[in-house]
Amino acid sequence: MSTLLSKSTFIRSLQCQKSLFLYKNYYHLRDEISLERQRIFERGHEVGKLAQQLFPGGIDVGWESPKEYKKSVQLTQERILKGDKIIYEAAFLWNEVLVAADIIVKEGDTWHIYEVKSSLSISETYYRDAALQLYMISKSGLKISGISMIHLNKNYIREQHIDLHKLFKIEDVTQEAELRIGGVIMGLIEARNTLNQNTIPDIRIGPQCDNPYTCDFKGYCGWNKIPKNSVFELEEIEEEQVWTFYNQNIVRIEDIPADYPFTITQKITWQSRLTNEVFINQDEISSALDQVILPAAFLDIQVFRPAVPLTSGAHPYKQIPFGFGMKNLTLDSDNQKIEIILAEPVFDFEESFLKRFISETAHLKSLIVFDKKRELRALVQMTERFPQYTAEIEKTINATVDLADIFNRRHFYHPKMNLNLRDMPAIFGYENVSNENQFGSDSLAGTAFEYLYRDGDLLQAIEIKALLKNYLKQDIEALELIYRGLTDTIDH
Ligand code: SF4
Repeated sequence: MSTLLSKSTFIRSLQCQKSLFLYKNYYHLRDEISLERQRIFERGHEVGKLAQQLFPGGIDVGWESPKEYKKSVQLTQERILKGDKIIYEAAFLWNEVLVAADIIVKEGDTWHIYEVKSSLSISETYYRDAALQLYMISKSGLKISGISMIHLNKNYIREQHIDLHKLFKIEDVTQEAELRIGGVIMGLIEARNTLNQNTIPDIRIGPQCDNPYTCDFKGYCGWNKIPKNSVFELEEIEEEQVWTFYNQNIVRIEDIPADYPFTITQKITWQSRLTNEVFINQDEISSALDQVILPAAFLDIQVFRPAVPLTSGAHPYKQIPFGFGMKNLTLDSDNQKIEIILAEPVFDFEESFLKRFISETAHLKSLIVFDKKRELRALVQMTERFPQYTAEIEKTINATVDLADIFNRRHFYHPKMNLNLRDMPAIFGYENVSNENQFGSDSLAGTAFEYLYRDGDLLQAIEIKALLKNYLKQDIEALELIYRGLTDTIDH
């Protein structure tokens, strides 16, 4: 068995020794990688490539496939000896530990290491990552002056063109890294011991499974055997308490002892799950629905959140609305059409999109939404760039009636409820809205729009636009069924 450690397997070992062991010995048991996670990897790669332009003219010695790492290590040495001053993806191997620095730059007779992160700040994991790089590259014989992290600058506001020197923040983390080298050495010893043993470490699932990253052996370790309605789904509960319950074999919400100091919402959840009864407070539902004043419409907004700002006035990871669906609320709703508006994915589309949104919604007294705080906040943020529309946007926001509030406040509670918009119609006895959409989540719908914006392949664009429109339509259908379901509960 290979005991070669890389930066990623070392970080994995710090999270969980069992994860390291499984990765090295039972790689095939990993969970399927989700599209969201795949997108995070791709985004990291894109940001890394962009950051290389801060140090132009370097040579890239990175490997195409991990199997070629030895070639990269050799090439790195060759380029250093040849006198190159900027090297991307420089690889070093020492004592069976392989590290690849995103960028190394020669300053006088020493080298400075730069690690690129697509985040807005530096986490503890990144400091440890820097410590490993600093330690290993120094050990491999290169004279190092220090290490810096390059990450996205949350205060950067894009103008017409991207200014890379303002988009990225470079922070020297040499001191923080040096402080953690002792921990790196101990971590390497522990990882080696793990890899030298013959059996899978006996480690139960715990808070480490999602910290700092979602482990890809959760399926193997039994996470998918945790029943629905488990203590992990109980709202307003501290993570520590959840694990205390779990370790006491209290897994389902109804198994929590009656003398636990429940909050009011927790108590309703517990009671409902215990008795399998639906909890309905007709007066509260009625007064919540009374806030809907005609003319009204169901509304769903979608946003995207590019790491590198794609439009002027945006900062990294700014949420930008790109589409909305609407359907008028009337007595003959079957005859009403669902309107879907998608922004044209062209530079600076926001103002025309915003104007369209305002013109479509201005006459409405109520907009019925479902847990759309994030999207509505994105609309509010647009007033920073377009203050001339502040009054109209505020009027829209004030007109929203959020159906999710009714469930969050436990005016209605169903023991099988999970607050997912598309799963909710079923609790009222309706057929679930189709989930047969390639996106499957708002974040992937946002990624699809980002793809449209950046790549613009005509045929694919037509297909993606059709899928996005269908996605918005399905959200509106689900929203309407939830509204009808709630209305029925007060009419009987
Ligand atoms: S799922 Fe949890 S316990 Fe299992 S290997 Fe991963 S981190 Fe360790």
